Amino acid sequence: MDMQNMKLYGNNDMVKIDCHDCKGCSSCCRDMGESIWLDPYDVYNLTTSLGKTFESLLQKEVELHVEDGLVLPNIRMAGEEDPKCSFLNEDGRCSIHTIRPGFCRLFPLGRNYEDGKLSYFVLEDACLAPSKSKIKINKWLGVPRLKDYEGFLIEWHALTKGLRAFYEANADNDAVIKAVNMQFLQIFYLTPYTADDFYSQFYERKEKMYAFLDSLGIHLQ
Ligand code: SF4
Ligand code: SF4
Repeated sequence: MDMQNMKLYGNNDMVKIDCHDCKGCSSCCRDMGESIWLDPYDVYNLTTSLGKTFESLLQKEVELHVEDGLVLPNIRMAGEEDPKCSFLNEDGRCSIHTIRPGFCRLFPLGRNYEDGKLSYFVLEDACLAPSKSKIKINKWLGVPRLKDYEGFLIEWHALTKGLRAFYEANADNDAVIKAVNMQFLQIFYLTPYTADDFYSQFYERKEKMYAFLDSLGIHLQ
């Protein structure tokens, strides 16, 4: 993707992506491989709203994958012939619409992180809807406390980018990669969230993660 020529938008900008409630299409809930990653906010929403632990989600709806050495959860596509998200109901609608993951809210937008700021770009031709209208990005996302959410995403991006770079530079050190990944999963995903404010829980966990890295003498870029 040529990011240099990509038009970037802020969350107050209008973009032509409104597909009018998908109207019978569920294309981006099907056959998406491991691409719908789940960040801590997604897992907080899923676990506290569905009353399930992260481990129990791993039995069915969620799986783990490794990318650039980093272990991350993603929505599992179930079924061999017609792989689809386990949350897609028989009517082809999302059964967890109000708490759907950030990547599902975003589509067909992408996120661009630069100089500690977050902006958005449109993945041209990604959504199959024949005619789309203009909509404000913040309305499209429909996330409460968007400023806090974007602040969290920027922190999360910095941490995961730093870990990927560390793993790349230490690719021959399986033991340390495994130890860091286990702690990462434990801190951000396996330790249950309470229904209290997500952001304070996240920032506490972030401190814990950096303290753990410090204890190993690891300082992320
Ligand atoms: S969580 Fe909902 S919106 Fe996201 S892929 Fe699954 S069914 Fe689609
Ligand atoms: S491809 Fe577009 S219209 Fe189809 S489900 Fe995804 S967002 Fe909705």
